[in-house]
Amino acid sequence: MRYPKPFRDLITHFSALPSVGPKMAERIVLYLFKQDSEKLTDFAESLESLGSLSFCTRCFHIAEGELCDICSDPKRDSKTVCVVEEPTDVIALERSGSFNGRYHVLGGTMRPGNSGDELRIPELLTRIRTEKIEEVILALNPTTEGDLTALYLKKRLIDAGIRVSRLARGLATGGDIEYADEATLASALKNRESLG
Ligand SMILES: [Zn+2]
Repeated sequence: MRYPKPFRDLITHFSALPSVGPKMAERIVLYLFKQDSEKLTDFAESLESLGSLSFCTRCFHIAEGELCDICSDPKRDSKTVCVVEEPTDVIALERSGSFNGRYHVLGGTMRPGNSGDELRIPELLTRIRTEKIEEVILALNPTTEGDLTALYLKKRLIDAGIRVSRLARGLATGGDIEYADEATLASALKNRESLG
């Protein structure tokens, strides 16, 4: 006896999500099955409206229109840009309330044997020229991949004549930015290390 098709389809969808295995997917679908139809419709609508969001055309954070809320805010300092891996890092840094510049979301990191062609590095270099950016803060995770990416960007940015710094190491080694608390992030920003 197998699950009915809608059930199986949903298990396939959930199993494909990060950190969700087939057993966990099965439990999620069973949980959803037990919800009333109003809740399910609400859930389906939220999923569907994700499709109306896009990447900010300037910084690649999540946006409801062409530009994200941060890029369209005239009160943000446009001379300082914080480079992060993913939109989740933007949210975490914003929560710390201690950064008033703009962001650039790379969309991942470089890995050994992968030159990172899919990362938005060319777009960052274009922004440096066109937006007259003066300082770049590298807020990459303290992982091997984050370090590799930071090293590469540091060289490219210093060649472009930009002041470059990196979040202070107070951030626990291996600890992701998205999981760090506000006070830790605020201090990592304040005590950022100049790279040149
Ligand atoms: Zn933006």
